[in-house]
Amino acid sequence: MNEQSHDQLKQNSADGVNHVTLTALQQFHCIGTDCPHSCCRINWHIQVDPDTLARWRQLDGEAGSDENLMAHVKRFSNAAGEHDVVTKNADASCSLLDPQGLCRVQKQHGHDYLPQTCREFPRVFVDDGIVSLRSASLACPEIVRLALFSRRPEEGESMLQTDRDSVFAVAQRVTGDAYANIKRVTADFLHRVMQRRAVPLNLRLFFIAGSFSRFHHELAQQGFTPRLAETHFKTRFHLLSQIAQDHKAGTLQSNPVTAGSYWKTIADLLVSRQVTLDVLQAGQAAQAPLVQLLDTGSRDPAYFEKLYTEIETNRDVYGQRYAQRYAKVFEDYMVLSFLNRKFPFNQHESNLLASLVMVLTVVAAIQLLIWMLLSAQQELDEALLQRIIYNVESQIGHTDAIFKTLSKDPHMLQLERYAEVYLDLF
Ligand code: SF4
Repeated sequence: MNEQSHDQLKQNSADGVNHVTLTALQQFHCIGTDCPHSCCRINWHIQVDPDTLARWRQLDGEAGSDENLMAHVKRFSNAAGEHDVVTKNADASCSLLDPQGLCRVQKQHGHDYLPQTCREFPRVFVDDGIVSLRSASLACPEIVRLALFSRRPEEGESMLQTDRDSVFAVAQRVTGDAYANIKRVTADFLHRVMQRRAVPLNLRLFFIAGSFSRFHHELAQQGFTPRLAETHFKTRFHLLSQIAQDHKAGTLQSNPVTAGSYWKTIADLLVSRQVTLDVLQAGQAAQAPLVQLLDTGSRDPAYFEKLYTEIETNRDVYGQRYAQRYAKVFEDYMVLSFLNRKFPFNQHESNLLASLVMVLTVVAAIQLLIWMLLSAQQELDEALLQRIIYNVESQIGHTDAIFKTLSKDPHMLQLERYAEVYLDLF
């Protein structure tokens, strides 16, 4: 651990809270109508909170007012309950956009009259007594550009105001609150694994997925004990070096049928969330061998093997041409993705494993799109990679699609059964 990490740890342990702020938040300004993927035009359900609803009712009812904001609100129900949401136009854009594409509420009544969701987006806040996080969603193109791709004036300038090596470092106090203990030991584990940057990112993700999944299942059976955490996290670190050696020697590889089946599931998720992506230029994509294979509906083991062989070809192309160039982007991306999905700082214990699956599913979707693109002989330049990231983040990562899939298919929570697929990442 470097000196800065030590200082940060001291500061964190002073009040017992880890303060983490995304540097890009200070530079961020919404680019409005210049935005290539505006949050007002994505098929999201924009909740109208009760305070905003009351303000809108008041505006509509004012003497002489011809305002009709409440005509743009409807009831909507999902797994989390019933909400008031803003209605949409036929093209899924927000119905409160004016003909120039500007927000009517913002323009006529000011920022304070926007629903809380719109006032805050793309900001992400977490305060749970262990971490105080000020971050931002990668569903916003401007945040993707600033946080992951903007040139930093000084070599080594961090994406976070906090030293990146200590973002998951929390004071290791065992308290009477079992869930707080779980969060603390998991955060410490993540902290120590993500710091080991000499070990390739794919191997660290494989290790995190397998270790945490096993820990979680035993936790469900036995409840939390320091001994359980010790067995699953603290005493397992030597395995990381072993994994790196085995992978180098070629003795640790994905099972083609398991991996083919997994990537087909990710392809189906892309289709169901309509992440067809205009970046895959139609003509070339239709001819791309990987795209054609993924279009097949087969569930046959021979099909999965064939699919995986095709994936390996494109994985090797990525490895040779781009892995080094984008290594830092994905290193930063993963840290931000863990933070933004509040892993392991969730509000609810039941969501802890699901949020890890969410992190890994979103990054897998990004990876699969890259392979599809390479299969279509396209050049993966920075602009294209940015588009892939914010498209997947907004269409899959910003919705409850994965939580819905998990509730229908709880096998996806048994991460240790297919963690090997993360060996193929980046
Ligand atoms: S996605 Fe970001 S930059 Fe684009 S309109 Fe929304 S807040 Fe502004």
